[in-house]
Amino acid sequence: METKYLFVTGGVVSSLGKGIISSSLACLLKARGYRVTIQKFDPYINIDPGTLNPYEHGECYVTVDGHEADLDLGHYERFTNIRTTRANNVTTGRIYQSVIDKERRGDYLGKTVQIIPHITDEIKRNVMALGKTGQFDFVITEIGGVVGDIESLPFLEAVRQLRWELDRDCLCLHLTYVPYIAAAKELKTKPTQHSVKQLQQLGIQPDVLVLRTEHEVPAQMRRKIAQFCNVSPDAVVQSRDASSIYKVPMLMHEQHLDEIVLRKVGVPPAGEPDLGPWREFLSKMDSATEKVTIGLVGKYVELQDAYKSINEALFQAATYQGMKLHLKYIHSEKVNPGNVADQLRGLDGVVIAPGFGQRGIEGKFVALEWCRTHDIPTFGICLGMQCMVIEFARNVLGLADANSTEMDHATPHNVIDLMEEQKSIHNMGGTMRLGAYRCDLRPGSRVAAAYGTSSVEERHRHRFEFNNDYRERFETAGMACVGENPETRLVEVVEIPGLRWYVGTQYHPEYSSTVLSPSPLFMDFVKHAISYKKEKEQQNA
Ligand code: GLN
Repeated sequence: METKYLFVTGGVVSSLGKGIISSSLACLLKARGYRVTIQKFDPYINIDPGTLNPYEHGECYVTVDGHEADLDLGHYERFTNIRTTRANNVTTGRIYQSVIDKERRGDYLGKTVQIIPHITDEIKRNVMALGKTGQFDFVITEIGGVVGDIESLPFLEAVRQLRWELDRDCLCLHLTYVPYIAAAKELKTKPTQHSVKQLQQLGIQPDVLVLRTEHEVPAQMRRKIAQFCNVSPDAVVQSRDASSIYKVPMLMHEQHLDEIVLRKVGVPPAGEPDLGPWREFLSKMDSATEKVTIGLVGKYVELQDAYKSINEALFQAATYQGMKLHLKYIHSEKVNPGNVADQLRGLDGVVIAPGFGQRGIEGKFVALEWCRTHDIPTFGICLGMQCMVIEFARNVLGLADANSTEMDHATPHNVIDLMEEQKSIHNMGGTMRLGAYRCDLRPGSRVAAAYGTSSVEERHRHRFEFNNDYRERFETAGMACVGENPETRLVEVVEIPGLRWYVGTQYHPEYSSTVLSPSPLFMDFVKHAISYKKEKEQQNA
């Protein structure tokens, strides 16, 4: 079968969930046995979101090949189990950088370099790159931003051209919004009509419309939209607010979105997608009544997307263990020795979040000391693991000024230090230790048991590391370095074996946790949080 290219655009407003619709469609096609991949084209000028503040862009996701990517790639992986790469996320910055490099090399042979055709050709080349590998039946391309934005124009022009070149091997799905005007008690279709008109003015006729809505859009209203927008009536589906994003594939399937798409690209839909394991997950989610309460200590707690992958990994782990996740955000800047008991009250487990810089760091130490001395299941991730090491050095090894050189250049006890290869790096973009690296696990350790294996590959995003000069002292005092990279001896995992569950990972296991393949480490952490909860209940009974 020829590779089919499915474009997903958005209209009216942003934040409608293009990533979730793209992921849901990919999930359904994959469940029908097709080889699918999804890519995101972001219209901003940054080369990648790696240098963006979480306030700007939520979490920065990391692919196995070490690309700092848009958080939508996290959804793609969680919904499909597909491993994304650098090729799955392209920004305007990357496109321009590549065109300018070619211009400097003289590749354009004296031509004037212009948006059309040079930028659009470069976009088209990137759109087709994954398809050309021959590994995929479907390449879904999500165009970031909203139709009408100046910065997405070259991307939409590339889509327009590709629709002609690819003919039936190509389709455009447009996601719009149908607002409900409470005072008039009415749903309004006009913004959708305008948004489709805008797309048509750019030469793109959408084949499928997905209407994002908080209320049921009646059939007759969908027919009206179909008529005004030149779309066949069966190809207008609605996406109502769902109680969980993981229900969206089912909601789309009930309205035959997968069949509609297949027919439109000339593939006869045969049979039904195999959604058995997905349905099992949803049924576990719906039948869970009991709560497990996890505290997440970080400095971006007011941003719902800042720790996206951690939230989802915890949610998946709780769901598989028949529990509802109650996630409590704890602002690390607000934790101090006077209020820590209150701040952490009632928690069954605590996650100390990743991060950069000094802000909120002391609160993490206070929370960690409390968790360690009260034996609360605790999971430190990246900076969280580094904080575990520093807190242990200060309060157990008696090295009062121990720190990371990230926070204090002149610390006499640099238990966390800049990695050697980072010392000569001055450019901030894409220069951390990024992507998947091997980690060997000590036999008999908690993590080895959790993974059920002696070696794993997990993804990284850091510049600092555990200082091996101190390793002996930590081991002797009870913090074991149970995971290390076999080539560099870099400490990847620490744990305190005597405690219920006290583990820190230099890597980010949350990035590889998906609905159908949840992270074994998150599963084990949540399992121990649940046991701790039961223990407390028994004591109080
Ligand atoms: N700031 C720390 C480092 O660069 C931790 C990074 C993180 O938590 N992702 O090593």
